[in-house]
Amino acid sequence: MRGHSPEDDVERLDLHCHTTWSSGFCSPQELVRWASMGDIRTLAITDHHHAEAYLEAADLARTLGVTLIPAIELDCLSNDRRVDLLGYWITPTAPALRAFLARWPSAATQLLGDDATLAWFAAGFGVTIDAAQLRTVAAPRDPSLYDLFVLLVGLGWAPTLGAAFQRWETMRAAGQIPRLHRRYAPVEEGAAAVRAAGGVVSLAHPALVRDDPTVEHLLAERVVDAIEAPYASYWTGGDERNTHYRRLAEQYGVPTSAGSDYHAYPFSPVHLGVEVSAGTLERLRQAGRR
Ligand SMILES: [Zn+2]
Repeated sequence: MRGHSPEDDVERLDLHCHTTWSSGFCSPQELVRWASMGDIRTLAITDHHHAEAYLEAADLARTLGVTLIPAIELDCLSNDRRVDLLGYWITPTAPALRAFLARWPSAATQLLGDDATLAWFAAGFGVTIDAAQLRTVAAPRDPSLYDLFVLLVGLGWAPTLGAAFQRWETMRAAGQIPRLHRRYAPVEEGAAAVRAAGGVVSLAHPALVRDDPTVEHLLAERVVDAIEAPYASYWTGGDERNTHYRRLAEQYGVPTSAGSDYHAYPFSPVHLGVEVSAGTLERLRQAGRR
């Protein structure tokens, strides 16, 4: 038997990433393959309001030695603030979760599925986008950001996905992409849907709530079972903020989840996977059994 090695003290995992089922640019199978190549032992694909990636990639994950956790991310609101919930070890087909998702489509699905909204949105790009055409590109999925880019390339708006993405980012930075109204579920309803599907609820990227009293309220009232720290994307001062939220988790006696929020955006290097102390995953799992 081999002795104790530093490897025993850490777990390499990723409990937050996206595919073309929501806001990502890669398939569930690609994510699983990259996870295995990066020696990431445990992966949870957390598409917004979709759990299908798990069903698509579970067989490949088994083949490649990756433990795939059925998971989801829900776009919610708490006191008029955007709050995203991560749900782990859910039953993707649970009727209560299905009912929630039918009542509350993701923000992207609302935008890309509505003809009038889509027309207004497309006018900002200077192209005509036909909602039915977008649905055809996306089928059998709901139209996602990736499908919109595929259609924009097809319409000659940009020569490639990469060029389209750069053009989009330039417009976004200049405030030229219209911000449209979307409906979000109350956070309590999102948490209840995850629990009804047998899942554990973690608060995604708490710094992006931009209001610690709201974060503390969600912890104190046990609306969430856990909080995401470390989180490895889309905020600056990462180490400092991750330490802050890890302390908050300790203070409220809740476990942590950990993830990259990797989207495989064009030109983004693969940054799947984070290292956490051994036992983190098991503590998160136990949180759902209290
Ligand atoms: Zn996310």
